[in-house]
Amino acid sequence: MPKPQNVKGMRDQMSQAMLLRQHIITTLMRIFERHGFEPLTTPVVEYAETLEGKLGDEEKLIYRFEDHGGRKLALRYDQTVPLARVVAQYSGQIALPWRRYAIGPSYRGERPARGRYREFWQADVDIVGSASPLADAEIIAVLTESLKALGFPEFVTLLNHRQIIGGIARVSGLDEEAASGVYRAIDKLDKIGAEGVRAELIASSVSEAAADRILELVLLDGSPHDVLAELEQQLGDDERAVAALNNLRAISAALADIGVPTTRYRVTPRLARGLSYYTGAVFETITSHWPQGSLLGGGRYDDLIGLFSGQAIPTVGLAFGIDRLHDVMEELNIGPRLANPARAFVTIFSPDQTAASLQLARELRDAGINVITALASDQGLGKQFKEADRKGVPFALVLGPDELARGEAVVKDLATGEQRTVPRSEVAAALANTIEA
Ligand code: AMP
Repeated sequence: MPKPQNVKGMRDQMSQAMLLRQHIITTLMRIFERHGFEPLTTPVVEYAETLEGKLGDEEKLIYRFEDHGGRKLALRYDQTVPLARVVAQYSGQIALPWRRYAIGPSYRGERPARGRYREFWQADVDIVGSASPLADAEIIAVLTESLKALGFPEFVTLLNHRQIIGGIARVSGLDEEAASGVYRAIDKLDKIGAEGVRAELIASSVSEAAADRILELVLLDGSPHDVLAELEQQLGDDERAVAALNNLRAISAALADIGVPTTRYRVTPRLARGLSYYTGAVFETITSHWPQGSLLGGGRYDDLIGLFSGQAIPTVGLAFGIDRLHDVMEELNIGPRLANPARAFVTIFSPDQTAASLQLARELRDAGINVITALASDQGLGKQFKEADRKGVPFALVLGPDELARGEAVVKDLATGEQRTVPRSEVAAALANTIEA
């Protein structure tokens, strides 16, 4: 007999975890749809060539296999490349600009750790077909509203632009090729620290003076206004960097209009973002409660769709990591901690009360309340209470002959043992009220 075991880096989600995940997903969908994003689902399997040449160094993490017909296939690495394929494949049928969301699993052959898995779910929102900074700002507004709706007490979005690191390298005297090396070194800042990055730059034949200048600039921090002003001073001679700064200023102005305060984001020149398809603004949201990594990441990728259609279509979007949100919410104890979706367990007092109990359950379900009913009608109430408690259902209901005759039911709080008798017509309200208490 094979040992029952799941694949490393891929997790079974038991009921309590699933109930929290479903809460996360429905909360995100509510916010996405409030902004008019439309749902899209694509298969988890793509032709390998669809994913190839889009992910830079990350491509080595793709899971590949051949199907029975010898076709070279891959599990999707993210939901962004499949979106680009869809836009190219259905061009003409999709009215641009298109706001779409997608929620589903992605696969990467990473070294598993807490918060980093080989199968993990992402929730993506993208605006396809708009180069406007209003689109970038709307994506950042959606993420801010989403994290607030989930109850995150503290988080901040780091915002940068691909051409700022390039500009920093250029004004420090590096040529275009060396500039891309700078980008790779900066990407490792969190892992190897400023000294490590400095050593790596010098090893790649950047002069000590240039390495120091680069580090001084990428480590700038402060309010968006101050950092942009300082960068303007330093990068004023580099045309592409100036355009990038103007773009971030326009996004910042739109964020103010859309209702995202400057306390919710920082302009952070050191944010590199690994994926090679980004072309403009990039961002990542972090919380001090989870120093290991980001809650989500995103940015503008104006050229990716063009790799499929031959015609560039400006697009901006982000991916929440559902597993990350989940792990952090568990750690911070935010969101529901339910083991079972039922609010009440309807006991069966004695076999001849079965019909009355099932009738009460039906009334409560009609009122929109989740209830479980006992299955063994000849069991004592004590055993039934135990079963309800073991399932994590907060209340048990009892309908004995006396209550039935009086048109009442007993509501028992299984955590405190407290019980009260309420008129039958008020049972639903009594269960609902205690939710808010
Ligand atoms: P990316 O697609 O790399 O931009 O990642 C977007 C978000 O997906 C990250 O901020 C994480 O929250 C999440 N994520 C990425 N890789 C993993 C992983 N291996 N395990 C769990 N979550 C991940």
